[in-house]
Amino acid sequence: MKKGLLIVVSGPSGVGKGTILKQVVADPANNIVYSVSMTTRAKREGEVDGVNYFFVDKQRFLQAIANHELLEYAQFVGNYYGTPLKEIERLRNLGKNVLLEIEVVGAAQVMKACPDALTVFITPPSLAILEQRIRGRKTESEELIQQRLLKAAAEIPLASNYQYVICNDDLDKAIATISSIVKKEVLIRD
Ligand code: 5GP
Repeated sequence: MKKGLLIVVSGPSGVGKGTILKQVVADPANNIVYSVSMTTRAKREGEVDGVNYFFVDKQRFLQAIANHELLEYAQFVGNYYGTPLKEIERLRNLGKNVLLEIEVVGAAQVMKACPDALTVFITPPSLAILEQRIRGRKTESEELIQQRLLKAAAEIPLASNYQYVICNDDLDKAIATISSIVKKEVLIRD
């Protein structure tokens, strides 16, 4: 059986990655499953251990690093996040395309370790529009909004390291574009 693709998607907080990717994964024709990351951040309401993340303490995370259990890892706003390697390999060997929705530092590690990974960066139409979207969610304090905007301004220039850059100016178009990229990349690897 043909090994599945490794797909890495990054983009600043508030860009709409989650919404886009959920729909891309929901399309059975894309044959994509999410990789479940390990994190030390606290579980949010509604999140389920083993589904959204594997929620672990810092000691367990450091052990995973030491045991080389992670394909990549990074710190993000004070917490560790990483991708367990074994499960990804199992799924790819079953022919599944595996999606990593990860930030830019970890994505750079994957690009190095897996040069055949498909890499996509999602950008907002502008920083002003990103700010409007983050403020529209009404979930963050002013300080957190400023932190996220600063982080976005630092992340967006790294888009050029990715194979594809998709602007989320139209949700349906972004979903359709990513779906067609996945299908094309699967075909050209045949
Ligand atoms: P959140 O706390 O909002 O779920 O995630 C914060 C950031 O961490 C997001 O940009 C998300 O894409 C990223 N992230 C989630 N899992 C991983 C991972 O396994 N590795 C890395 N490097 N980043 C991750």
